Amino acid sequence: MVPGIEPERQPVAGVDFPATFEQFDAWFATEAACRRYLVQLRWPRGFVCPRCQAHSATWTTSRGLWHCRVCQGQTSVTAGTVFEGTRKPLRVWFLAMWFVTSQKHGASALGL
Ligand SMILES: [Zn+2]
Repeated sequence: MVPGIEPERQPVAGVDFPATFEQFDAWFATEAACRRYLVQLRWPRGFVCPRCQAHSATWTTSRGLWHCRVCQGQTSVTAGTVFEGTRKPLRVWFLAMWFVTSQKHGASALGL
């Protein structure tokens, strides 16, 4: 622990991530819901442009891209993350990660 820096709050099941599969299913019913969740994780205090770092008021395009008012750049919530360029639905990734992290002893490739 670094003196003077508040330790990060531990994520709470049922609050920060689903506690049960039923909850998972309800939280991440659609791609849009998955994206909203990523937006909350990535920009909890509002959008920050990854190109110019501006905390600029922004809008989203019809393709779901975030448009920066300062540099006019466009970015997706998945750009620069492990999800960038994926062809699989976010819901599939979320399900895989949830499955792996919710198993007491990890998940086998076969189980996944
Ligand atoms: Zn920008």
